[in-house]
Amino acid sequence: MHRVELGKTGLEVNRFGFGGIPIQRVDEDRAVETVFHAVEKGVDFIDTSRVYTTSERRIGLALKQTNKRVVLASKSRSRTSDEVRADLDVSLKELQREHIDLYQCHFVSNDEEYRQIVSSGGALEGLVRAKEEGVIGHIGITSHNLDLVEKILDDDLFETIMVCFSFLEPKAMETVIPKAFNKNVGVIAMKSFSGGVIDNPKLALKYALSHPDIVIIPGVESTDLFDQNWTVYQGSFDLTDAEKQKIEAIQKKYDKNFCRRCDYCQPCSEEISIQMIMGIRSALNRFGKAFVQEGWPKQAIEKARNCSECGECLDRCPYQLPIPDLIKENLAWVDEQLKS
Ligand code: SF4
Ligand code: SF4
Repeated sequence: MHRVELGKTGLEVNRFGFGGIPIQRVDEDRAVETVFHAVEKGVDFIDTSRVYTTSERRIGLALKQTNKRVVLASKSRSRTSDEVRADLDVSLKELQREHIDLYQCHFVSNDEEYRQIVSSGGALEGLVRAKEEGVIGHIGITSHNLDLVEKILDDDLFETIMVCFSFLEPKAMETVIPKAFNKNVGVIAMKSFSGGVIDNPKLALKYALSHPDIVIIPGVESTDLFDQNWTVYQGSFDLTDAEKQKIEAIQKKYDKNFCRRCDYCQPCSEEISIQMIMGIRSALNRFGKAFVQEGWPKQAIEKARNCSECGECLDRCPYQLPIPDLIKENLAWVDEQLKS
């Protein structure tokens, strides 16, 4: 087992954690069985979120069946002190815990959201109070925006960061991850499979694990899939020349059509959440039709229909993605899926 200390939290965990997204898309018995199985095998870090519908409840049910010690992390997309506290109370109830080891401000996309979180009455204030009361152990933050994470690290207010990291999104390793290590901030790497785009789990996991000191959180919804991934964790993380070539080929294939979620294309004059629409196929495949037909995915889809093809975003995308064309293609694909 490869263990790592999550920065200044002092929490020591296995580098192979468990992400709570996929267990939403199966029935409760299978979800609980999968989490229980993972913990019995040796997983001792589980990440979930208030916004992952049934995930917290199912993890809570699974952990009731085992005496194994698990470091639990959850998160909230609320930005104010009162709202985050309300979310935390629901998380505690769903997880059937009196204490959550790590609670994170979830999906902080831009400077405005971050300022709201850290200002008076913001989510951070609520979480600091909860930490003082002993309800949570540590406070983290998650974001897809690496420039923002760099600034967040400068402020020294959070004990962990969660960022995207895979061979399709390797940039965090050049910038924020070394900076976080220098500041003794724990690093949780999400999206090892780039939201399901990489269809070679073994390669994706070996690549992520070949970078030391980060914790990865591949989520699965069955014991079989868990075992496949866990086997990779038991082996060598050294990539062979053939595997390196495969990675290069996949990187090339997705070079001009894979959104790295960096948000450099913003602001959009129609307030379209471009990265959301770029990832909508993966969201539908992972969360199901019901998920994209309500709440923020539905709003994002409706806004995207207003794309005027002004082209302002095109020059800003460092990867030269044909954004308006991809938006149109993705909307047509979603409409087709929702019809059937
Ligand atoms: S082309 Fe569409 S997505 Fe891009 S900035 Fe204009 S309205 Fe927004
Ligand atoms: S479309 Fe380009 S600029 Fe916008 S989030 Fe994706 S990769 Fe970044």
